[in-house]
Amino acid sequence: MPLSTKRLFKVATLISLFLLNTAQAEWYQENQAIMGTRISVELWHDDPATAKQCEEAVFTEMHRIDALMSPYKEDSLLAKINREASKQPVKVSPELYRLIEQSIKISELSGGAFDITFASVGYLYDYRQHIRPSDEEIKKHLGAIDYHHIVLNPNDLSVEFNSPGVRIDLGGIAKGYAVDNGIRILQQCGVKNGLVSAGGDSRIIGDKRGRPWMMGIQHPRKKPGVAVALPLSDIAISTSGDYERYFDDEGERHHHIISPSTGKSASGVISASVIGPEAIMTDALSTTVFILGTDKGLALIEKLPAFDTIIIDDKGQMHYSSGFQAPSEAGR
Ligand code: ADP
Ligand code: MG
Repeated sequence: MPLSTKRLFKVATLISLFLLNTAQAEWYQENQAIMGTRISVELWHDDPATAKQCEEAVFTEMHRIDALMSPYKEDSLLAKINREASKQPVKVSPELYRLIEQSIKISELSGGAFDITFASVGYLYDYRQHIRPSDEEIKKHLGAIDYHHIVLNPNDLSVEFNSPGVRIDLGGIAKGYAVDNGIRILQQCGVKNGLVSAGGDSRIIGDKRGRPWMMGIQHPRKKPGVAVALPLSDIAISTSGDYERYFDDEGERHHHIISPSTGKSASGVISASVIGPEAIMTDALSTTVFILGTDKGLALIEKLPAFDTIIIDDKGQMHYSSGFQAPSEAGR
């Protein structure tokens, strides 16, 4: 039966609508400076207006987390905890409570290498001004570094410090947490291929439409430069390095990753990357592996089946956990 002109017209309209839709599907990418770092959102979408809205929603979420958790903003809830929790319990939001609780769990997991009370000494450093505490100052404050000083009360969601001079800082976990929230927003937008990154913490949804995302690990001593590029999909990756916030003084590098046992910058490793399902964990674990050093760092990651690590030590030697095959071993 021949098609009527009307039907033909309908079919033609449907085809052109379909073509229009697929023609519009494309990659959208936007960067903003938030939380003292570069936030990047990338996604594949067929509607420019929705893509824009979703990107904006991610940036809004980053601003919200920054306002809540920045130790530098006097009106943040975190700053309030640091001012008052040594004197009396401070009630916090369920969100902040959970994050502190999670940080303590990672302290336990890492034998105290990851410890948000590092800030009890950490606040004495100012990397931009090249200021660091003297040995006497460190000695005076070192006793305040111990996550056991944090007393959480689940009944009223309060936080108290059972010792004077204790401070906390969520800088080793907050960006990963923010990236996970950003990814959730993209998922709610229906995004099937996308990326959210905050400085050294990234998470990706799906692949790059038929090929993996190539995620480069920054070369710790060559900028710009990539130490290794990993083909990845549906995963989070975090890198901690001694080259982001630091200054060199008398041949010694002072950077922002602090060993809780000494109150000084951790040494032995210059870059630690961790991959795994969620950025909150890869963020905290990259900082942890950096502090633990090559042997203990590898041993910890081997105990956690969902995670893998690539470590670059201070001799430039690369170390891979067993989930990765070192390139030289690939052909064996
Ligand atoms: P970046 O902030 O560049 O992503 P990292 O993920 O390596 O880097 O985290 C470094 C941050 O972690 C520091 O800026 C500080 O806020 C925090 N931090 C430093 N030492 C410790 C520690 N021992 N335990 C927990 N957090 C730490
Ligand atoms: Mg980290």
